[in-house]
Amino acid sequence: MSQPSRERLMTGIRVTGPLHIGHYWGTMKNWAQFQNDYECFFGVMDWHGMTSAYKISSQILGWSEEMVAEFLAWGLDPEKSTIFIQSQVPEHLELFMVFANLTPMGWLERVPTWKDAEADAKQSDTHNLGRFAYPVLQAADIAIYQGKKVPVGADQVSHLELSREIIRRFNHLYKAKLTEPTAILTETPAIPGLDGRKMSKSYSNFVLLTEETEKALRKKVNAMVTDPQRVHRTDPGDPLKCSVYGYHKLYSQGDLTWVEEGCRSAGIGCGDCKAKLSENIDKISAGPRALKQELLADRKKLRDMIRFGNEKARNEARKTLELIRSSMKW
Ligand code: SF4
Repeated sequence: MSQPSRERLMTGIRVTGPLHIGHYWGTMKNWAQFQNDYECFFGVMDWHGMTSAYKISSQILGWSEEMVAEFLAWGLDPEKSTIFIQSQVPEHLELFMVFANLTPMGWLERVPTWKDAEADAKQSDTHNLGRFAYPVLQAADIAIYQGKKVPVGADQVSHLELSREIIRRFNHLYKAKLTEPTAILTETPAIPGLDGRKMSKSYSNFVLLTEETEKALRKKVNAMVTDPQRVHRTDPGDPLKCSVYGYHKLYSQGDLTWVEEGCRSAGIGCGDCKAKLSENIDKISAGPRALKQELLADRKKLRDMIRFGNEKARNEARKTLELIRSSMKW
């Protein structure tokens, strides 16, 4: 049997507040698997959070610690992988400055996502240099660990391409051999918000990755919009027009026929259907919820674990920075 690859994988999540349920399917589930196949670096990217949350900076540390607790609760293993907080590994910013100097402005202006982000940035008072230069920091985040693999959704491929270009330019200028990362394309199922719109903090329509109690989870599920044509219990419905069904497709593989037939024939009510969904989500989240609460209840222990991860990350980051400086003869 062939040995599993232990190529290095770097990824992270921008800190903007508590994680939502979509992070399970798009992130946690994949990451827990990746750590068996790769040497993983999982970052809590608080400098990236700061680009938009700089006015509420006092919240970022708390969110970051909570995010580490989420990572651990959902199965990331600090012995197998390196789990760290970005700002506590200052080498990220040192490499960012190196890369910022060799990245032409035009490269950033051409990033397709910047065009969409720019309008939002102007509206939200985040039309700042930090947000504009975000992809350069991403390149540094990857290169500082010599990351070979980077999991990305289809919408982030252009960012990774820019990282590759920046690293290539560095290698060309300084005759260096920094690792050029390649993508692992991941799929993130679209999960609707409670009101059927895109799940977003600004709409307050999200379910947390780890709701504090089962009751809180049930309350959120009960608030989900259903097929608007199904006004009375006796009206047949169409699951394809219902957000609850979208969730069932992810959480209730064994109950899908019950949902589909029951909805179309009015054999079940929306209350029954939502109760089943809460039950199925809770089957996955009850364990992580208990673990997360345990981790947050002992902050000292959690902070020790964070320090351990930061130190592991720094050891690698320092090595890369030495390489950078010696390549640059600086
Ligand atoms: S029975 Fe379920 S799928 Fe059908 S409309 Fe109600 S909540 Fe939606």
